Amino acid sequence: MNKKPTLTTILIVLFLSILFINFFLNNKTQKTIISNMIKDVSYLSSDDLEGRKIGTKGEKLAAEYIVEKFKQYDLIEKGIDGYYQYFNASIRENPHSRVIKNKVQGINVIGFIDNKMKETIIIGAHYDHLGFGGPGSLFLDSMQIHNGADDNASGVSVLLSLIPELSRHKIYNYLFIAFSGEEQGLFGSSFYAKNPTIDLENVRFMLNFDMVGRLSQDNILAINGTGTSSKWKKLLQDVNIDNFNLRTSESGTGPSDHTSFYLQNIPVLHFFTGQHQDYHKPTDDVDKINFKGMYKITKYVKNIILKSSKITDFDFKETVSSTTITPKFKVTLGIMPDYLFDGVGLRIDGVSKDRTAFKAGILKGDIVLSMGGDEVNDIMQYMKALSKYKIGDSTSVKLLRKSDTIQVPVFFFK
Ligand SMILES: [Zn+2]
Repeated sequence: MNKKPTLTTILIVLFLSILFINFFLNNKTQKTIISNMIKDVSYLSSDDLEGRKIGTKGEKLAAEYIVEKFKQYDLIEKGIDGYYQYFNASIRENPHSRVIKNKVQGINVIGFIDNKMKETIIIGAHYDHLGFGGPGSLFLDSMQIHNGADDNASGVSVLLSLIPELSRHKIYNYLFIAFSGEEQGLFGSSFYAKNPTIDLENVRFMLNFDMVGRLSQDNILAINGTGTSSKWKKLLQDVNIDNFNLRTSESGTGPSDHTSFYLQNIPVLHFFTGQHQDYHKPTDDVDKINFKGMYKITKYVKNIILKSSKITDFDFKETVSSTTITPKFKVTLGIMPDYLFDGVGLRIDGVSKDRTAFKAGILKGDIVLSMGGDEVNDIMQYMKALSKYKIGDSTSVKLLRKSDTIQVPVFFFK
């Protein structure tokens, strides 16, 4: 009864085995990456690190953890003192004062893979956070540890996961930078961009991960900076095999570290899974992190980098907001904008207690349509409108609340 297997049978068996081995290996890589991510975020956002504020013991412990990882992966030291690059920052210590500033020293952690290629890709993420709160915090009841799991242990972990993923692909050199001082005003990235340890002329682009741990069920991924090269939009679509629901914005400037590199005429992207209730509060904890989502983002970014090498002339483009003067704010409304809102106006995602908007009766979910005589169609226009006021001024804000349009008088107090 024993029949000799035909060539077709052999080929089918062979094919299925390859599929199986491939699936098994992929699955194993995914498991390894996710289990490393859980370790990274759990440690970095643990109470032991006391919120990783610049200039504190917690910042140093986090920096040491990143150094251990860089060593494991044999990265070349690209700081000034080993992997470290020190910088000074003046930070506001007292939330009630604009004057009293504290001088602190922060640490950037920098590692390099030198493949002797002409071009380098920079991967960045800030590892500092708000410590026990104070300026920048949206939790004003008492001083508590702000663990910053999403902001930005998640970004650091994606950066670390990309090291072994990219090291096999010798198409670029890769520079990995974990920044500090981001929360107090992009101090670390700004210092690096002005005091680089590689030639920035040869940098093809910079990718920034800031808050990538909350991928929602609808798969919404915000990518900012898509106007900084004419090549981004097609590239981002071409490798979008996991069907991310992309929300792109063109501007190269924004409230995170990619801005510092954009200002050096480098194409940038900022990856962001969106704003949430726990933003800048002690409740931004590891149990709310979507690790599978972080894995998907890591895979997506790896594919973006690999595919980008097929593009010959990766140009830099200035985006609109950079030509206008950066607005200087003398006042704030004390609201949190919904960065993922894509309708007309500025949707409010949160209102800080006892601040201007709160006192004017503005609510979470309201959409700002205009302020004084200025139309507000998006965040940029909102910032521009806001920059015209100073403490003591009053104005009228037009809001859409559910289906009603209402006018609310606002007084900007200290
Ligand atoms: Zn952040």
